[in-house]
Amino acid sequence: MIPLTTLLDDVKCYEVLRGLHWPEAVTCPHCQSLQVSKQGRDSTQPARRKYRCGGCGRHFDDLTGTIFAARHQSLVAWIGCLYLMGLNLSNLQIAHELGLNEDDVQRMTEQLRAGIVASQPADADVVGRGRV
Ligand SMILES: [Zn+2]
Repeated sequence: MIPLTTLLDDVKCYEVLRGLHWPEAVTCPHCQSLQVSKQGRDSTQPARRKYRCGGCGRHFDDLTGTIFAARHQSLVAWIGCLYLMGLNLSNLQIAHELGLNEDDVQRMTEQLRAGIVASQPADADVVGRGRV
């Protein structure tokens, strides 16, 4: 079987994440400033953009402040997992589709459920678009 993750494009996944996370413009996760400059890309994940805030001077990247920060799975695996959860697949089925082991998938689905609930804002429009 071909793992779903080999069919997903890392660049596209980051574009989707940026669109969900920052629908208007890239915003500093530390001080909410819009004075943000691009600082190149992550050395191991070229699709992951880095930024520097002109307001507070801190550095961040596409994953800072999201539930995907500091996780060892690729964003492609997370997006794939989220997609398959939406199809109501079991952890075992998701593990097969993503080429991961079931224990990893169990942790990922728990974190996604916890993260999604914790990050849901009052704004119904944002909730409707499945904010991550
Ligand atoms: Zn800032």
